Amino acid sequence: VNIYVSVDMEGITGIVHGDMMGAEGREYDRGRRLMTGDANAAIEGLANGGADYILVADGHGPMRNMFFEDMHPACHLMTGSADARDYCQLQGADTRTFDAAVFVGYHAMAKAEDAAVHPHTIAGIAVHELRVNGRPHGETGLNAAILGSLGIPVIMVTGDTTTVAEAREFLGEDIETVAVKEATGRNAAICRPPSATRPDITAAAERALGKLGAVKPYTPGTPMQIEVDFLTMAQCNRAARTRGIERVGPVTIAVQGGNPWEQYRNLWAGLRSALYEPASWLA
Ligand SMILES: [Zn+2]
Repeated sequence: VNIYVSVDMEGITGIVHGDMMGAEGREYDRGRRLMTGDANAAIEGLANGGADYILVADGHGPMRNMFFEDMHPACHLMTGSADARDYCQLQGADTRTFDAAVFVGYHAMAKAEDAAVHPHTIAGIAVHELRVNGRPHGETGLNAAILGSLGIPVIMVTGDTTTVAEAREFLGEDIETVAVKEATGRNAAICRPPSATRPDITAAAERALGKLGAVKPYTPGTPMQIEVDFLTMAQCNRAARTRGIERVGPVTIAVQGGNPWEQYRNLWAGLRSALYEPASWLA
């Protein structure tokens, strides 16, 4: 049994502020430790449940957040900067036949209506809304759709209560979820301590593996039409120069590709272009 684990940071136990989520933040190391703890709790449950191979992908910002030396021995870790990954948060998901995927520390989508810790979709400073077949998707829905195209069902999601509700809305009631906090706003939440959430995460992961096959891969319909609205025209202009990206409006692109996995690569290439500021002599 092979399991792919994607770990983000906004939905980790106790993390409520940017201070804990980036290298500039004075509490970044605390955030990293908490992230490592939630990931390890999930790995423990998956190992208990019989997983033979567990690939964990560090999927937040610099993408080398977790303390590798403290990680559970049952995992392999995909770590290293997002610019060196063609497949962003899902790097490595195609390297073998994965039976299921687990999302740890996920966050709500851009424009989520309920309170959520740092809701956004992939890049908050550029992406206003991302749609799959016309429906707004966050990272939970999008990543599940891309993994679904590889035949991989997402069987468990952890995050704040809004994220967990979003996951159930997109992936159904059969998935396991653990709500580790209840956001009261972008930078605040009522949190359960790690001593409470980690056993919950371990138990949920073990349960999820115990009913493998109950959750089907998420498929929003083929072909998948992926569109992105940017915040600015400059971002859209830069993205639209990328291979596989078609401009369909002043701030809107459509992502091409022979299949969803290829579209995800093109999407990430387009977003990276959108985010790059030109050198001063080119500006
Ligand atoms: Zn993140």
